[in-house]
Amino acid sequence: MNYIWASGTDTGLVRDGNEDMVFPPTAGASRGPVLVGVADGMGGHVAGEVASRVAMEAAVAAPPEADETPVSRVRKANEAVLAAGEERPELRGMGTTMTLGRFGHDGVLDIGHVGDSRAYLLRDGDLELLTTDHTVVEELVGLGHLSRDAAFSHPKRHLLTRSLGLGPVEVDAVNLEVAPGDRVMMCSDGLTDMVEEMTIRRILAESPDPEAAVWGLIEAANAAGGVDNVSVVVVDVAP
Ligand code: MG
Repeated sequence: MNYIWASGTDTGLVRDGNEDMVFPPTAGASRGPVLVGVADGMGGHVAGEVASRVAMEAAVAAPPEADETPVSRVRKANEAVLAAGEERPELRGMGTTMTLGRFGHDGVLDIGHVGDSRAYLLRDGDLELLTTDHTVVEELVGLGHLSRDAAFSHPKRHLLTRSLGLGPVEVDAVNLEVAPGDRVMMCSDGLTDMVEEMTIRRILAESPDPEAAVWGLIEAANAAGGVDNVSVVVVDVAP
């Protein structure tokens, strides 16, 4: 398998700083294994930026070849954010989401996930959400108390039920096999809050390469108001 990726992050049009982190920071190609991920930090002052950066650095500290699953990497990220908060009391209470994927040379994609960043698979023109948001609103949808359309604009859609940096955390594991022609996209909620899935699907399907897809999606988020930081990683699977 050959993986070709691009990534991008943008402050958006409203926020003063960018609390998102994206990995890898630059485009590239590899036969795998490849690590990719997004983290969306939260907290006062600079705390959100510190949380997502500390988390991502810890998650990717071991090389992609290391015998470590994305789930164990996300757990290490959680411990790193907790430790940073203990060292610097002014940062206590900071948190971050993390969606981290590892593409193996054998075509297996493993994902570790906490929070409301997302991973999607575009296959044969169809867009499939691979992760579950850890939000109060998503729980209400799951219980049948709220429709998915109402959830998109719900005022409390940002309330997380799980994040890194608060204490012990349960990390979701997602495992699938990718095939040539697949396109995988990971993003922070700055994209999915602003742009409906049918538009995300169209941009992913119509963009000729990962770089065009990443910046097409970021431009769409900003065109829709850009109220949050937005981060996108796109990985194309080739033979
Ligand atoms: Mg966000």
